[in-house]
Amino acid sequence: MPRNHRMRRIASPPRFSGFKPYGCHQHQEQAVVLLYEEYEAIKLADYKFMNHQEAAVLMGISRPTFARIYENARRKIALALVEAREITTETGNTYTEKKWFFCEACQTRFTIPARISQHNCPICHTDQIAPIAIHINTNK
Ligand SMILES: [Zn+2]
Repeated sequence: MPRNHRMRRIASPPRFSGFKPYGCHQHQEQAVVLLYEEYEAIKLADYKFMNHQEAAVLMGISRPTFARIYENARRKIALALVEAREITTETGNTYTEKKWFFCEACQTRFTIPARISQHNCPICHTDQIAPIAIHINTNK
């Protein structure tokens, strides 16, 4: 697979396409775009409690780069919370070790082991699945 120094490794894509605020009187139309690498940075640092050095190694990037991605992620999430904005996700500059798929029927994201040739959604068993083009740079 082609990669360059800007690519960030993630273990898995987020299990959602976005978040929506509810119960708010005023809500900002413009959504906050959270990149997969920003989601991964939050997950590693604030969910798995890794230090920046460990997290940077896992993502195949330098510690300063990790710190910058993490800072951006926190600012975006704060913006979304305070201004009641939707969050949408984009693949950014990421890749995974595994091939991921998206089920168009039930919206699940999943991987398929290489030895299995029949491709169906593991949740609803439809064959309406599409590969997630996670190796493609859609951000810049
Ligand atoms: Zn499904």
